[in-house]
Amino acid sequence: MPTISPDKAKPEYDVIIVGSGAGGGQSAFTLTLAGLKCLMLEAGRSYDVVNETPMFHAPHQAPLGGVGTPDKPFGFHDATIDGGWQVPNEPYTSAHKQPHEEFQWWRARMMGGRTNHWGRISLRNGPYDFKPHSRDGLGFDWPVSYEDVEPYYTKVEMLIGVYGTNEGLENTPDSPPGVLLPAPKGRAAELLTQKHAKKVGVPVIPIHRAVLTRPLDWKTIPQKLYPGNKWAQGIVKEAMSDRGACFWATPCGRGCNVGANYQSTTVHLPPALATGNLDIIANAHCREVTMGKDGKATGVLFIDKTTGKEVEAKGKAVILAASACETVRILLNSAGGKGIANSSGLVGKYIMDTVGARLGGQIPALENIPPHNEDGAGGSHFYAPWWLYKEQLAGKLDFARGYHIEMGGSRHMPGGANPVSDDYTRGLYGTKLKEAARRYYGSFVGFSARGDMIPNADCYCELDPQVKDKWGVPVLRFHWKWSSHELNQAVHARKTFAAMIEAMGGTVRGDTNFTGPNSIEKPGSIIHEVGGALPGADPKKSVVNGFNQTWDVKNLFLNDGAPFATNADKNPTLTIMALAWRACDYIIEQAKQGTL
Ligand SMILES: Cc1cc2nc3c(=O)[nH]c(=O)nc-3n(C[C@H](O)[C@H](O)[C@H](O)COP(=O)(O)OP(=O)(O)OC[C@H]3O[C@@H](n4cnc5c(N)ncnc54)[C@H](O)[C@@H]3O)c2cc1C
Ligand code: SF4
Repeated sequence: MPTISPDKAKPEYDVIIVGSGAGGGQSAFTLTLAGLKCLMLEAGRSYDVVNETPMFHAPHQAPLGGVGTPDKPFGFHDATIDGGWQVPNEPYTSAHKQPHEEFQWWRARMMGGRTNHWGRISLRNGPYDFKPHSRDGLGFDWPVSYEDVEPYYTKVEMLIGVYGTNEGLENTPDSPPGVLLPAPKGRAAELLTQKHAKKVGVPVIPIHRAVLTRPLDWKTIPQKLYPGNKWAQGIVKEAMSDRGACFWATPCGRGCNVGANYQSTTVHLPPALATGNLDIIANAHCREVTMGKDGKATGVLFIDKTTGKEVEAKGKAVILAASACETVRILLNSAGGKGIANSSGLVGKYIMDTVGARLGGQIPALENIPPHNEDGAGGSHFYAPWWLYKEQLAGKLDFARGYHIEMGGSRHMPGGANPVSDDYTRGLYGTKLKEAARRYYGSFVGFSARGDMIPNADCYCELDPQVKDKWGVPVLRFHWKWSSHELNQAVHARKTFAAMIEAMGGTVRGDTNFTGPNSIEKPGSIIHEVGGALPGADPKKSVVNGFNQTWDVKNLFLNDGAPFATNADKNPTLTIMALAWRACDYIIEQAKQGTL
């Protein structure tokens, strides 16, 4: 990825963008294609997708067979570089030590951020998800509605490429005809789940993921995205035609060097750079937004990690897209640690993760399946959207919001660890071990809930008064408390999974203590951290308006997950990108009017 050194930066840009992940990438794409001069600052190093993606390496080519280690938690071949649950030189702290209340913070520090290895599950929030308070009196409504965001969901889906089907289900929006790419067929375990989950009332349908099941239609999509703008069409067409279709064989978490799935480094940044309007500085650790006497942002201060020197970059507007809590950290560290954009006192408040709960089982009907390749599109093909909206609204459940079910299990290429659980092969060797491995491989299923979390005042982050990072920048301290809604939801999910496994004729495996604290995954561990800059219609009760624009600093925008009012069960990234594109259209309009 071409980058510049700090001394080559222009004296001033139209917009400074902090972070190169989903939010930063989308911002750079939209703004540079509108002709705005942008500088992107990325704290991690540059990353060459074509040459650094170990797509075809077998597990035995990696140390320890490629299994996870503290510095590579998702395995040796995972695309993450210099990131994970701990980032060298950048600690964070937690005010709680109870396992289910100790926030886990996964951070990426590389070009493209977490988009190089994310799960690519790309679900639209539904109409209820934007107005949850109006529906059940809990949490907050967003200042935008589904109708406001819908055109941007469509644009993002057309640009990045998302497979899936339209099913016409409640609060599970369809895309306009022709926008989604064909969904892959279900694998054996997914088809069996689909058949038997019906018995317990759970609908199983194709999931939506940002993977190209066929090449993008580069002849017509650029015209739809940029009608009448031949220059922009040409750049988008070039970038789209460079992307290959999925060839169903390699784990997406390693990244995709043929560009068949969405990552900022293959989809957003190449066309943004091709406009000639984007400069990128890597190893640029932003510490604060600089402010002018007129109350507007003048740019940012960053530490050049290669020299340790502090550098100032100037822009007419600033976009923070450093990931939700890192954006909060930059806001709180600005103005000499007094913080900015915080007249409401809400910066850092109401942070959320997705509710997670899981259970697995062994299914005799899946034993002894003939050997075949089930790798598919590198992740789930099917899922179950939340199906009990009416029962919930009628007060028949002891929790207010729903979850969707993601499913695992199949005969994809095994990683370094034993793909058959030890208790099915223990004590066996030679022919008997081989027979057991062939019999049981692919007969295990796993179900994971991804649930709506209602924001609450006990979940927040603040600057730790004592701890600083290597460069002297104060770090975040996290506070967390689940409410009974999330705890009960996790219990409901695990009981449902047990019923599904039994309906499939299988045996539940693992811990069946279905209490809330025992059922819910650790906060932050689903890696869907959002919130901390509540959006709203009232400047006294929110940090940003419906365009991600901070109320207090008019030329400061937050284009990541920070300005989320709720965390619906739908995975957040598609919404981050849709809202970022919408905010950038607003910035472009302001630039045209000369009011940036
Ligand atoms: C294993 C995994 C699976 C996931 N699966 C899914 C999924 O299936 N669907 C889904 O919707 N979401 C998923 N997510 C979450 C998804 O990755 C994030 O929602 C998304 O990447 C958020 O985009 P972002 O731009 O806010 O942050 P990021 O993608 O994290 O990008 C932020 C960037 O900012 C940089 N940065 C941080 N601090 C600074 C600083 N101070 N100065 C300069 N730069 C800075 C970082 O280095 C990073 O490059 C998954 C995440 C992980 C880790
Ligand atoms: S499964 Fe498909 S999209 Fe995923 S890495 Fe392999 S080729 Fe790319």
